[in-house]
Amino acid sequence: MKALQLLDVGQVALLEIPVPDIKADELLIRTGATTICTSDLNDIRENPFDIAFPITMGHEGAGTVVQVGSLVQGFSIGDRVATHPVHPCGSCAACRRGWGHLCTAMEHFAINRPGTFAEYYPVRHDRARHIPDDIPFTAAALAEPISVCLEALAQACVPAQGTLLILGDGPFGVLMARLEASASSNISPVKTVLAGWQDFRLAFARDAVTLNTYGVRDPYVMLRAEADELGYDAVILAVGSAAAVRLGLSLLRPRGRFVVFSALPGETPVDLFRVHLDELAIVGACSDEDRFDDAVARLGDAELRMEELITHTFPLARHEEALALAETGHDRALKVAFAFQAGL
Ligand SMILES: [Zn+2]
Ligand SMILES: [Zn+2]
Repeated sequence: MKALQLLDVGQVALLEIPVPDIKADELLIRTGATTICTSDLNDIRENPFDIAFPITMGHEGAGTVVQVGSLVQGFSIGDRVATHPVHPCGSCAACRRGWGHLCTAMEHFAINRPGTFAEYYPVRHDRARHIPDDIPFTAAALAEPISVCLEALAQACVPAQGTLLILGDGPFGVLMARLEASASSNISPVKTVLAGWQDFRLAFARDAVTLNTYGVRDPYVMLRAEADELGYDAVILAVGSAAAVRLGLSLLRPRGRFVVFSALPGETPVDLFRVHLDELAIVGACSDEDRFDDAVARLGDAELRMEELITHTFPLARHEEALALAETGHDRALKVAFAFQAGL
């Protein structure tokens, strides 16, 4: 089969490799679609997760079951499924506390098990969910990005009628804004403000207040005007920028929550005096696995129309073009997918 592999930092190659064997508790998926994530681009650039090369890339995927392990029940050949990259071990101290996504012995697509940028990929059966026939695979590939966004929103703990500021109009910022601001969302209604630099991206955040701060000398004033007198209840960092950390913390109300969603490697200066004085909370949100069912339900929510976020699809053979487009966001690209003929 064809697989897009990361051979070393900066070295991506489309190779012909054997179709992976599956274990007794796994399914083999014929890939229908798989989306490019910001973290795939980070992996190519700097390998922050210490991936052991070579590895088949990609972690956001959906497709058709073509082989079922001998111990698996509830799945049949031909089933259409969305998959989740996080494979918790189920027995370590973190798993025993119910924190599967923080498992210390985790397997994860494209980190230490084969990823989804291939014609076929294996998945453990508990990491797959059936999807309705009317959901295209391109949208179903968003199940995991939706899961992690739901986790970040949960970490924000915004009270009903409260105010939430999302800094960054990349695919995740837009996705969070859409989930939180949608009238069909079962999260308590809050005022959602999305700040970014590109009008075309902000336009995807239907129902949210959107503010373009590009070139604005003092974005604080512009963003502060949308919060109540005390400031925002929560700010989610959806852009990897130290300046955004400073800005976000300054916009919080006392006892507000700052959610670090974007990867910002290394040390970032933070005014801890403000944290002390105003009893601020700084919390992380990176991954998630137990919001998978909720995420799959959102895929079927017609009002959310998640498929609109997939702006471009490419065959795997055009990977250079697809990765470059995802990196630059040119041509009004938001989420870029690889689609496979066999899966459509
Ligand atoms: Zn991702
Ligand atoms: Zn574990």
